[in-house]
Parts: sequence; C-alpha cells; structure tokens
Amino acid sequence: MKEIWIATGNAHKVQEFQTMFEDYKVRSMKDLDQKIEIIEDGKTFEENALIKARSLYNVLKQPVISDDSGIEVDAMDKKPGVESARWMGEDTSYDIKNQAIMDAVEGKDRTARYVCVIAYIDENGKEHVYRGECEGEIYTEQLGTKGFGYDPIFYYPPFKTTLANVSEEQKNSISHRGKALELFMKDWRKKND
Ligand code: IMP
Repeated sequence: MKEIWIATGNAHKVQEFQTMFEDYKVRSMKDLDQKIEIIEDGKTFEENALIKARSLYNVLKQPVISDDSGIEVDAMDKKPGVESARWMGEDTSYDIKNQAIMDAVEGKDRTARYVCVIAYIDENGKEHVYRGECEGEIYTEQLGTKGFGYDPIFYYPPFKTTLANVSEEQKNSISHRGKALELFMKDWRKKND
C-alpha cells in the first residue's frame, strides 16, 4: 500500500487525514524512530505549516503534508492567531481562554475567523499551500459541548449557534479545515487519480 506522511504527532489529525486517503496508509511523526524538533516560529499560518512540512520532508525526502490553524479575533489585532494552541499557556484550560476572549471583545467588534493552512511538499520538493477560512463572531457565553478549543464561543451566523453546538459533519462542511482540505484534495486528485 502506498503511504503518505503527515507532519504531526496529533492522533486526531492522523485519523482525519486517513479518512480522506482511503488508498493510502497515513504515517506520522509517531512512526519515526528519531524525534524531530520543530520550532513553530513563523508569523503566518503559511510559514508555520511550511516549517512543519519541511522538517519532515528533510528527513524523509518524500511527499509530506502538514497543517496549521487557529483563531483570529479582530478586536484583539487578530490574536491569538498562530499562537492559538499556546496562547495563555498550553496547559491553561479553554474555559479560561474562552472567557478571556469574551472579556477582551466586550463592547467591541465581535468578528473573528478560524484559519487553516495545509502545506504539501510533493515528490519534486515543490511546495504548495491551501488556505481555508471560516467567518464567525465571538459569542456572549460559552455554548455547546461538541468540538474542541474555541468552539464554545465561536458563533457561526448561518447556523445561528456556536460550532460547539453542531454535529461534526455540520462543522466539517463549513469549517476552515474542511475548506483547506477540499482545496488540497482537488489538487491531489488531479495529480494522483
Ligand atoms: P495547531 O495544531 O498548531 O494547528 O493549533 C491549532 C490550535 O488552534 C488549536 O489548538 C486550537 O486552539 C485552535 N483551533 C484550530 N482549529 C480549531 C477548531 O476547529 N476549533 C477550535 N479551536 C481550533
């Protein structure tokens, strides 16, 4: 079976990619003997996605995929942005982080968006990036128990509720990650079908 490598150690992401690549065995950094240290110090989602992909590509010299995502809150100068995972500390609960964002936007513009960038380095070492965005608003309370991270405060106007209050299928159909994946898969199928 052919294999495709994902520059992540996150089992959930590996599973997500595995469902897209039915005919491939999806491999990740967990399958490597050596540990690769990745310093995500890019200023944009594109830079960070490429940093991850290049780190793995340089070891394997075969096609790799990576992704980087986060939330941009307009009233916070687009923060937490690329720092979404580690903002206020990696171990701080999302209950606390979500409350801090709601406090920061109180009486201000509530617009926000999720961004996801997928990077792909092909068999010739050529780099490709695919960006998906999902526009929403910071809600006035934490609502819903599904999803993860900032979903309880991410109000999606067309659904008239937060993304923590809809099914995984509903979220995937409009999400930043869903959109970036769709763009990537379109390109991938053109080359691999
Ligand atoms: P990454 O794994 O380095 O790309 O970090 C992504 C971070 O952005 C996550 O840890 C969350 O804090 C945030 N994030 C990205 N996508 C979502 C989402 O769909 N829902 C909630 N939070 C998200």
